[in-house]
Amino acid sequence: MKKESSHDTIPDLSKNAATVLEKRYLRRDAEGKVLETPAHMFRRVAETIAAPNKKFDKKADLKGLADTFYRMMTNFEFLPNSPTLMNAGRQLGQLSACFVLPVGDSMEEIFDAVKFTALIHKSGGGTGFSFSRLRPANDVVSSTTGISSGPLSFMRVFDIATETIKQGGTRRGANMGILRVDHPNIMDFIMCKADQKQLNNFNISVGLTEKFMQAVERDEEYDLINPRDKKVFGRQNARKVFHRIVVQAWENGEPGIIFLDRLNRDNPTPHIGEIESTNPCGEQPLLPYESCNLGSINLGKFVKDGTVDWKKLKTVVHDSVNFLDNVIEANNYPLQQIHDMTHANRKIGLGVMGWADMLILLGVPYNSEEAVKLGKKIMKFINDEGHLASQELGKQRGSFPNFQGSIFDTKGAPPMRNATVTTIAPTGTISIISNASSGVEPLFAVSYIRTVMDKNVLVEVNPIFEQIAKERGFYSEALMKKIAEHGTVHDIPEVPEDVRRVFVTAHDITPEDHIQMQAAFQLYTDNAVSKTVNFPNSATMDDVEKAYMLAYETGCKGVTIYRDGSRDEQVLSTGKKE
Ligand code: UDP
Repeated sequence: MKKESSHDTIPDLSKNAATVLEKRYLRRDAEGKVLETPAHMFRRVAETIAAPNKKFDKKADLKGLADTFYRMMTNFEFLPNSPTLMNAGRQLGQLSACFVLPVGDSMEEIFDAVKFTALIHKSGGGTGFSFSRLRPANDVVSSTTGISSGPLSFMRVFDIATETIKQGGTRRGANMGILRVDHPNIMDFIMCKADQKQLNNFNISVGLTEKFMQAVERDEEYDLINPRDKKVFGRQNARKVFHRIVVQAWENGEPGIIFLDRLNRDNPTPHIGEIESTNPCGEQPLLPYESCNLGSINLGKFVKDGTVDWKKLKTVVHDSVNFLDNVIEANNYPLQQIHDMTHANRKIGLGVMGWADMLILLGVPYNSEEAVKLGKKIMKFINDEGHLASQELGKQRGSFPNFQGSIFDTKGAPPMRNATVTTIAPTGTISIISNASSGVEPLFAVSYIRTVMDKNVLVEVNPIFEQIAKERGFYSEALMKKIAEHGTVHDIPEVPEDVRRVFVTAHDITPEDHIQMQAAFQLYTDNAVSKTVNFPNSATMDDVEKAYMLAYETGCKGVTIYRDGSRDEQVLSTGKKE
């Protein structure tokens, strides 16, 4: 490993971050020997992503820009999604986390999609698909006069392909499988992960329509349509289907739901195509063959003297949009179709992490009206400034090529460089690298055991809690262990009352609180919000149903729920015994 110059040390790099970076992100030689330090990695990324500015401005100060990017990453104010950190400036050069591929109703199209999936997974990206165009199982196949296998059989092919590539890639390939609620095989789809050994490389979501939701409200039947001939295949009772979704989600967290008509209402380029799927974690609706690169601002770094540092936030938003637009240029796409679609719409997804940290630093409990209000204010600010930054880039670099006919194409409208600007990602790994709370989630626990990447176990105390506990003199290892085992601080007398009030965790708050926060961020996010609505193990199916309805009523684009202990394996777990 090359020695770091003092100029290049990263004071805020945590031990966990160093472990994660070394295991998966740093450049290695053919023998697997690590060739760079974390500081070199951030330099590599900063320089590669600054370079495209030269294309648009011959006099661009690339060194200055690379320094700005380097600083915002190593101060952990902003990080791009993992593939950008891993691959920028390296041979593979694939920088996006999210892709959606079309799956057409023919053998050629299905197995093309399997091949394309393999290429994307090899490069660290995740793929989403709608299987809604596939004719149902046991339908006619004219070329062979046989019968069709149906969407579920083909999903297994994608699953096995993903499983095989997982063993060689830099990170696990992940898939989203969507089926429209009016597909004839919808009931089988809803049940397809009931056996927890099936389709482990898929998240699944049912694509709900407004028509279906109205039928649920009115307790009516709705039509199932055969996608092959668009004819009515049969009818189903909407409440029966909705209830089945709820039962399965209560059982083990899946399927999730997405509201297809809402995704399309906000589709910025309806003239180019219809949105039928999102990426694996649900935050990024995309057209077939589109990809998107994400980046997240770490809000915990924007609290100064007990208030939000808006000035610094504005600067970092503008630099982040410049960064993400450049990623589109520096990216090496796994397929020509993806290159062309991505360049034509230029979607980027700027979001946040460290939201729970920010609230704690401001002394605001996550489950309070004040927090919901501030969430809206923060995201509105980021969205507004993000759009301004995209307009400024548009003036210099031109609008995205599909601008004409898009929702931005109104009389006298300013240019727009990117068809979407904002997305709230889960930030699963980049939040570990930044030592921040993930996405817009509340703290999972104040101290806990985290299983990451093939079961490496990291024991962690929330850094802000640790600091406060030490400053105020109630820190002890025994207490931290007690909290990890207990899972919450709200009834631990050794912790002062005002500290307990702000260190609320995912399980201290109600599902309604989770959804209100998701809805608050969704209000000012172009794409969607990744959020898990946590339920205690004791929650009833009714509770889950109410939460789904609330998500619908509050304008969310989808929901993912998780009832504690309902799956055999959990990514995060408190030491709490049920
Ligand atoms: N993703 C993936 N495999 C993974 C984790 C993530 O393909 O193991 C993709 C997926 O599309 C997800 C997106 O990356 O929706 C963003 O996830 P996250 O924010 O957790 O990624 P990070 O950049 O933190 O690694």
